[in-house]
Amino acid sequence: MRKNESGDEIYSLIKKLYPICRSITGNGVRKTLGIIKDIIPINIYEVPSGTKVFDWVVPKEWNIHNAYIKNLKGKKILDFNKSNLYVLGYSLPIKKKIKLAELKKNLYTLPKYPNWIPYLTSYYNPSWGFCLSQKEYLSLKDEEYEVCIDSTLENGSLTYGELFIQGDLKQEILLSTYLCHPSLCNDNLSGVGLLTYLAKYLMEFKPHYSYRILFIPETIGAITWLSLNKNKIQNIKYGLVVTCVGDPGNLTYKKTRDGNSELDQIVKKVLDDSGEDYNLIDFFPSGSDERQFSSPGINIQVGSLMRTIYGKYEEYHTSADNLSFIESSFLDDSFKKYKEVLYLIENNNLYLNLNPQCEPNLGTKGIYSLIGGNKDEPLDKLALFWILNLSDGTNSLLDISIKAKIKFSVIKNTADILSEKGLIKIYNSNGIKNQFNPYLKDEDFYKKAKEKFDLK
Ligand code: ZN
Repeated sequence: MRKNESGDEIYSLIKKLYPICRSITGNGVRKTLGIIKDIIPINIYEVPSGTKVFDWVVPKEWNIHNAYIKNLKGKKILDFNKSNLYVLGYSLPIKKKIKLAELKKNLYTLPKYPNWIPYLTSYYNPSWGFCLSQKEYLSLKDEEYEVCIDSTLENGSLTYGELFIQGDLKQEILLSTYLCHPSLCNDNLSGVGLLTYLAKYLMEFKPHYSYRILFIPETIGAITWLSLNKNKIQNIKYGLVVTCVGDPGNLTYKKTRDGNSELDQIVKKVLDDSGEDYNLIDFFPSGSDERQFSSPGINIQVGSLMRTIYGKYEEYHTSADNLSFIESSFLDDSFKKYKEVLYLIENNNLYLNLNPQCEPNLGTKGIYSLIGGNKDEPLDKLALFWILNLSDGTNSLLDISIKAKIKFSVIKNTADILSEKGLIKIYNSNGIKNQFNPYLKDEDFYKKAKEKFDLK
């Protein structure tokens, strides 16, 4: 595989999606989903404006065709075709002549960064406005201007994309991202790009768990999906919100509301095993859609694996969060970390030692000769003893790798060998731990296992 191959693919997709003007509704979202659909077979859903979704109502659909500010000479001072960030999101249509003093009431800038255009919206407070750089703002002369926002706000629908990947298990893992931002890269086209290729990867390897992939507008999209899919919530074991995965910062993991769920332990283990610096953040009830998924009446444990968290990098929600802020190598690294998280989720089985009375005589089973063998990770003698000792139906491979302070991949490879040699057996592939001693509970199983594997 070429260096950064996945990162390059993700970057190309982002580049294609970057010019599209997206919002929480409208044709930008549809066009974006159409491009994703060329890569993975998502279903695209339309929920009519006015649909009641919990305590909210699906808003009117917003579309924009053009916008500008012209001076008296007819020269365009601001042009929507040059950057869609120039228009306040969800701006009402307007076309009129206006004096500078009045125009200024509808202009938004970021004085701290005089060259950057801020990204602002007004979804639920009907308004119109332009966002521009402080430099452009200061260059405006005291004269009359022609402002035009050629937009529509009408009954239509909210659009989202969903892909269900059927695994062996009914239990699902939720992977969600939002696609409501216009030309902004790290927040959040990086999430859209990464999740598209992660879904493609999952479809190729035919997972054990089922996976539900969502491309939704932030907040209202999550509320809408949850409200219309209440029957699906119970099957979701836990989930991740994919966002801000293309910047140069270290990995950051925002934990689930539980704070110590299996998913929290999995992501932390992946980050520990990487040997790189990372940040761990406790759950807080703002941020992205984890706050909807983790509201008390929904209660899905959802974390978020990012690089630099939204709001903590200067370029956040400005025109500087562009194609040169993100890099293919960082996208590639984030993609690898997500794949490792999936590897742990998929392989966190519970095993039962089939020879639990004292340690087995490994010399007679050809195991010692395998230590340092030619598997991807060498079979570790210590790993072997940890697995044999803790495989009692109450410790998963993740628990064992954490307790033993050994990389998960070493524990997993060692468990595969022990399993091939008939010394351990998968006890529960669903990760649910046994409360009681399974040897006492299931004498029959133990006897049968001994016969099957010819353990004397
Ligand atoms: Zn944002």
